[in-house]
Amino acid sequence: VSSTELTEHFLKRIESLDSDINSFITVNRDGALKQAQMADKQRADGLAGPLTGVPIAHKDIFCTQGIKTTCASRMLENFIPPYESTVTANIAAAGMVNLGKTNMDEFAMGSSNETSFFGASRNPWNTNHIPGGSSGGSAAAVAAALAPIATGTDTGGSIRQPAAHTGLTGIKPTYGSVSRWGMIAFASSLDQAGPMATSAEDAALLLNTMVSHDNRDSTSVAHPNSDFLTKLNTPISGLRIGVPASFFSADLDSEVGDAIQLAISQLQQQGAVIVPISLEMNQHALSAYYVIAPSEASANLSRFDGVRFGHRCEDPKDLKDLYSRSRSEGFGAEVQTRILVGTYALSAGYYDAYYRKAQKLRRLIKDDFEQAFKQVDVILAPTTPSTACKLGEKFGDPAKMYLEDIYTLAVNLAGLPAMSLPCGMAKGLPIGMQLIGPAFGEANILHLGHQFQ
Ligand code: GLN
Repeated sequence: VSSTELTEHFLKRIESLDSDINSFITVNRDGALKQAQMADKQRADGLAGPLTGVPIAHKDIFCTQGIKTTCASRMLENFIPPYESTVTANIAAAGMVNLGKTNMDEFAMGSSNETSFFGASRNPWNTNHIPGGSSGGSAAAVAAALAPIATGTDTGGSIRQPAAHTGLTGIKPTYGSVSRWGMIAFASSLDQAGPMATSAEDAALLLNTMVSHDNRDSTSVAHPNSDFLTKLNTPISGLRIGVPASFFSADLDSEVGDAIQLAISQLQQQGAVIVPISLEMNQHALSAYYVIAPSEASANLSRFDGVRFGHRCEDPKDLKDLYSRSRSEGFGAEVQTRILVGTYALSAGYYDAYYRKAQKLRRLIKDDFEQAFKQVDVILAPTTPSTACKLGEKFGDPAKMYLEDIYTLAVNLAGLPAMSLPCGMAKGLPIGMQLIGPAFGEANILHLGHQFQ
């Protein structure tokens, strides 16, 4: 099949099915068809690579030149970037076809997609349920086969948690592996982009094009081991898998716990060695994250001031009125909450009590993982405590919503790679299993994940 036929197929599915799923904010119809024609020509000329002509959907957090990029916020409702992010540029250079931009939580703050200015996206397995977030539109689009693969970003779980809730394979790479240039910043020391796919192999293939060293991102690193396909088919016997007791706490639903235990016993049968570990510091991840992430967000989001770009209020009285009304009108409630929390935590007098303490915990969390990786090659845990909740069930209750991420946040604080992959179903909804690797150990976790797919 040609890329043009393939692209038309997905565009048609989006047109007829996305009114129920709401996974796209912008559909790039004409642009996609043009890219597909170019890909077909490259193929005819014998210039095609493995991804040439394959359609993809991008989370609406990546700046795409000439294509609206909203971050699901009223603030950027009409923003058309004059430049292209490194991630989407690398993917376009591999010949992939951009079907459009996917729905998400506003500025990637959320776990259910319900903070989107454009309305929540829905879980294709059951449209009364959330698809997870913040990369919920990407997850829903791939799960509903409106796109074969998508990009997401993960600051505290936003690739892995929606992947778990929609039965996909999603990977958050080691911090620094994928350039953040042109990706709208939430919490810069935690943000990392990655693939959301239907198999470990597809995820590895896309990750190969996403990972690149980029001088325009000062935290970008050259990945020492960046062909993620090579290890996939080697046997796993002798692989040491750590199972952290602290991830199987009272918060974990029994049906999720049972599915993970079953996977563990299957791996044991294949010759993997299961090693009980503790990771006690994980209990502090939530508190550390919800100081550090809002602090960084409060600084990053100060650029949306109604002057340079983004939403501007009508008839401002003076500069202060311009700032405050533009920002109050442009940002939704969750984003405003985080800006306030972050500003508070960073202010003189509170910095030591909150921000510095959170940074100390972050260090202890990282050390905990480092100790564990002296004994094991990969850590296996649930991705989320339960399957996807109903729309509205947790929205507006941060105490409940923030618990969605208790098993994913520590990985971002430690900068490690981790993936979620499907591990059974409960009441018609997918269960996710998480594999965590040491820094730059993407190949290890993809290798193990591939055994299930
Ligand atoms: N749910 C978490 C939050 O709201 C993580 C979000 C993310 O990874 N972008 O901060």
